[in-house]
Amino acid sequence: MDPVPVDVVVIGGGQAGLSAAYHLQHRGFTPLRDGAGERTYVVLDANPAPGGAWQHRWQSLRMATVNGIHELPGHAVPPADPSAASREVLPAYFADYEERFALDVRRPVRVTAVRRADEDPAGRLLVETDGATFAARHVINATGTWTRPFWPRYPGQERFRGRQLHVADYVSADEFAGKRVVIVGAGVSGVQLLDEISHVADTFWVTRCEPDWREDDFDIPARVAAIAGVEDRVRRGLPPGSVISVTGMHWTPWARAAQARGVLVRHPMFTAIEEDGVRMPDGSFEPADVILWATGFRPALDHLAPLHLRTPEGGFRVENGRSIDEPRLFLIGYGPSQSTVGANRAGRDAVRAIIADEADETAGALVA
Ligand code: FAD
Repeated sequence: MDPVPVDVVVIGGGQAGLSAAYHLQHRGFTPLRDGAGERTYVVLDANPAPGGAWQHRWQSLRMATVNGIHELPGHAVPPADPSAASREVLPAYFADYEERFALDVRRPVRVTAVRRADEDPAGRLLVETDGATFAARHVINATGTWTRPFWPRYPGQERFRGRQLHVADYVSADEFAGKRVVIVGAGVSGVQLLDEISHVADTFWVTRCEPDWREDDFDIPARVAAIAGVEDRVRRGLPPGSVISVTGMHWTPWARAAQARGVLVRHPMFTAIEEDGVRMPDGSFEPADVILWATGFRPALDHLAPLHLRTPEGGFRVENGRSIDEPRLFLIGYGPSQSTVGANRAGRDAVRAIIADEADETAGALVA
């Protein structure tokens, strides 16, 4: 089958992808399904339903315990009960949003590869999926991180007789009742789940480094400086790094609660895993029934491999959301835009840049 021509393919229908779709439509791009538009777009999303990664977050991640959700452009999040599960409230909001603006989101459609149609830098990018192939002038990649949980390797990991899981597979604390749980990781989810699980289980918390606790509120200059640091990293093609590596850890209510109950006791990272527990750097042994890896996520970008954009350092060179080495490609929700507010802005900025490209092309054609 011939590739389907389209001006813009958005890969991923989470916060970043929907923001891009909204701005595309707002700026005169028509849904591909309507055909015949002068400029068309389509969103391809691997998930079975609206909601991006939110539909997979654990049940106990409530509206009151998320870090703060920035609404999608043009439509406010309806008031929600703070005790409601974010995995229910936010996917319902996303579904309503897609319907309200009649966005062209196709699912489940998994993009398996993006490659250049030919060597012409003004030519098209082929977006291959588990169904049709699309030939796009521009690709906005908004695939998030949820599908790539990061799971570090430690000696003896495969010998462990208990259960190992990543937070991506966490359901609720109840399943650990009465057990001894080693929780690995100094990020927000590590501390949040430490507090939660310690109500029903015996917990032992390990992190590679001492968490960088900050007493102060994360004020705007500090936030701007942190984002500038990540922008600089991705411009140089370095991996963006974890959120905590730039923001530090702030005293959230659950962190204070864990501290007050005496469970926020950090131990250094173990050196090896054995059948029934973990070996500590001082040679002591800590028994464990469960090891919970709260060790973060990595950008889900394997489908971009045919473009050969990955740097030796393992990142992508990106400036203002655009790939420096493949200007037809935008990476949004990546690096500095990896938050709900950042994803919104990056979607808007990618669309502005595409429109500016079109204007340049038109001006060039007129001159010629
Ligand atoms: P996602 O929501 O992950 O959407 C990506 C979409 O792309 C998914 O639907 C996925 O199916 C699809 N996809 C992936 N690969 C393919 C492919 N090959 N083909 C087709 N589709 C594909 N940020 C905040 O601002 N506030 C918070 O409170 C907050 N809490 C968080 C809690 C947790 C536990 C985590 C892990 C992150 C949190 N974040 C939070 C960061 C959050 O990930 C972003 O803010 C935002 O939700 C990410 O949106 P996104 O669109 O980039 O990614």
